[in-house]
Amino acid sequence: MSVVVTGATGHLGRLVLDSLLARGVAPTDITAAGRRTETLSDYAAKGINVVAVDYNDPATLEGAFTGADAVLLISSSAIGQRVAQHSAVLDAVKASGAGRIVYTSAFPGLVVSPEHEVTEAAIKDSGVPFTILRNGWYIENYQGLVDQARATGGIIGAAGEGKVAGATRADLADAAAVVLTSAGHEGKTYGLTGDTAFTYTDLAAALGGIVGREVTYTDMSVERYTEALIGAGLDEGTAGFLAAADQNIRDGLMAEVTSDLSDLIGRPTQSLKQGLTA
Ligand code: NDP
Repeated sequence: MSVVVTGATGHLGRLVLDSLLARGVAPTDITAAGRRTETLSDYAAKGINVVAVDYNDPATLEGAFTGADAVLLISSSAIGQRVAQHSAVLDAVKASGAGRIVYTSAFPGLVVSPEHEVTEAAIKDSGVPFTILRNGWYIENYQGLVDQARATGGIIGAAGEGKVAGATRADLADAAAVVLTSAGHEGKTYGLTGDTAFTYTDLAAALGGIVGREVTYTDMSVERYTEALIGAGLDEGTAGFLAAADQNIRDGLMAEVTSDLSDLIGRPTQSLKQGLTA
């Protein structure tokens, strides 16, 4: 069983490497592919193969996947460039004859979804055996609120009473490791969520439990929230993105809970508190 993990230098990628090792995959059967390979020296020391790849440079992708039974394409963080980047990886995986591509996607209909939808379609059209992992919203996306909650006793947003079926990166990484190393996942699309969806009022309560003071959630319109984020120093693009994500939550697009994640990892998913303090 030979596995290549792209995006291995990122948060999720490192957790996938940890999970593969914990599942007993031999380090020499794992290849960690990333751009900032200097950050992978701890894994190289364990015997994991490290290769430098840049999604923007097809020459670096040639040969990176040869002999792999499965390749995990962790979606790029370069929003706006991802269709071309993922397409370059897919071309290289196809040319290499690797056994299967596993892609970390997103649920449909979200502000982040269009690039993922194009990539999913390209993978399905490619003829390469595939598995799609539609990862739910990371609970860790809210970790930055811990300090804010401690300092001010309040959080703001525009999600209304919409729910987030969030999941931790650690659980999502375990699911990816399971799918990479076991049979029966070919052609499947999994929607990976936490077992329990939470509102921002629930989030405020969880933050309160962590920081030891009452924390309240103040809901506002998407427009006012965008202005507040810009006023707090965010650039317009980032503020607009975060507000659009809250609009998705308000519209119920992140509320659906599935059992795919807990089924794959064979245990209940981690809690909101575990994700906030991971
Ligand atoms: P990180 O930002 O920690 O990691 C992003 C990874 O993308 C890094 O390994 C980075 O490589 C790699 N990358 C970016 N550009 C290139 C490139 N040109 N060539 C090769 N690699 C590149 O994100 P996470 O690990 O936390 O999440 C993984 C992915 O999930 C994200 O990239 C994003 O697509 C998506 N995501 C999902 C969220 C959710 O809530 N479900 C939230 C945020 C992101 P390097 O570090 O070496 O530059």
